[in-house]
Amino acid sequence: MKLYPLFADLAGRRVLVVGGGVVGERKASALLEAGAQVVVGAPELSPALMSWVEQTRVQWLRGSFDEHWLDDAWLVVAATDDPGLHQRIRGLADARHIFVNVVDDAEQSSFHVPAVIDRSPVTVAISSGGHAPMLARLLRERLETLLDPVIGSLAGLLGEMRGRIRERLPDIALRRRYYERLLVGPVQSLLRRGQRALAEASAERLLETFDVPRSGSVVLLGAGPGDPGLLTLRGLRALNEADVILHDRLVSHEVLALARRDAERIEVAKQAGHHHTTQTQIHALMLAHAAAGKRVVRLKGGDPFVFGRGGEELEFLRQNGIPYEVVPGITAALACAAYAGVPLTHRDHAQSVRFVTAHCRDSIDTLDWAALAQEKQTLAVYMGTSELPMIQQRLVAHGRSGATPFALVENGSRPEQRVITGVLGNLAERAVAAEVRSPALLIVGEVAALANTLAWFGRPPLGASPAWTEAA
Ligand code: SAH
Repeated sequence: MKLYPLFADLAGRRVLVVGGGVVGERKASALLEAGAQVVVGAPELSPALMSWVEQTRVQWLRGSFDEHWLDDAWLVVAATDDPGLHQRIRGLADARHIFVNVVDDAEQSSFHVPAVIDRSPVTVAISSGGHAPMLARLLRERLETLLDPVIGSLAGLLGEMRGRIRERLPDIALRRRYYERLLVGPVQSLLRRGQRALAEASAERLLETFDVPRSGSVVLLGAGPGDPGLLTLRGLRALNEADVILHDRLVSHEVLALARRDAERIEVAKQAGHHHTTQTQIHALMLAHAAAGKRVVRLKGGDPFVFGRGGEELEFLRQNGIPYEVVPGITAALACAAYAGVPLTHRDHAQSVRFVTAHCRDSIDTLDWAALAQEKQTLAVYMGTSELPMIQQRLVAHGRSGATPFALVENGSRPEQRVITGVLGNLAERAVAAEVRSPALLIVGEVAALANTLAWFGRPPLGASPAWTEAA
């Protein structure tokens, strides 16, 4: 069940609460705070509900549930201890298109009430979709400590200035920068000290002097291999500030989901079979957006300077006078090794590691195979999935033993990660048998065998099979 979150304006709207006990009382109280016209239906009422009835804040429908109680209601809360009655209410309400919340029964509810952090007018609501209300409550407690109480007053102040801000800064990207600047300026601390007039003056002053930046900029950002936890803090910040994100297909949805909601996302796929953006078009896109004053994030899988054409993009930006920054990411070799339990160097087995790419015949022919075939080193081969027979053949032809272990890591660090282990002599065969697909990274060297014992993430390696033992 996927819920659509919404904040409802209940002011003056009739809401029926069925049940007059303490739960009904709690629900009625929250509804009263939102200004709803609360009607409680029950044979008896708790003392607090009774006093609200006496103060005419709540209307009481005395007796057992009656279908007519639903007349003119916008919402219903069922808070009795009778599941049969709850089911009946749900059915009747559905027929009338009225949303129902059945207390402590997610299945029977057509709307859920979230755990709330109240910094009015700012409200943060958390729902676990009825799966784990306790978890939602724990998250609420954590967020309570993170959100400064002054946020409410700040939102109030900005609400009053909203019209003027929109008028002075009609461009949404620019407005966003104004708000960002405001958050790091003195306004919050003035509000915290209770100096509202000074806070307002400070916000107004910034508004008058705030100006359009002459040029935008580009952040060349490494997204890492897929697991969003591997993004750097600086990377997260850049994603939150971006107006435009130009991303490769390799970048995971989870990482993209961390970016600003309203940032424009443009996929610049370079893989065959998908719409094709040439490097020249990517350059043109970066330039067009940056020249329009936008903050562009050029988001690449792994690290932008490892087989990512990051160098070419920077040269282009430099030639065109666009300011840029580079934020490194965790490259596939490091991530795949870590998530497969393969230490790339090891005192006993490998004193060096080489990152190589072997995606086509040309790149294969330019590699120094004699050097790559040397012992006591680890190879991390990028983009090699389609050339595995060639890699196997060349390494063996140049003297690397067919018994050298390998680990092939597909979708490293992602939930669907697979690790295939074996020895060089059966590399191509094992990859075909396992139907390995891109993106996959090949690790060759004695250390690769450690995946069979040190693996810790996801499924165990497809490795110590009879075929493996025979070949070894
Ligand atoms: N700049 C990237 C590499 C781009 S080349 C980086 O630093 O990681 C693309 C190749 O990277 C793929 O063909 C594959 O070999 C490797 N790769 C990238 N992400 C991967 C992942 N999650 N799992 C396995 N290999 C990956």
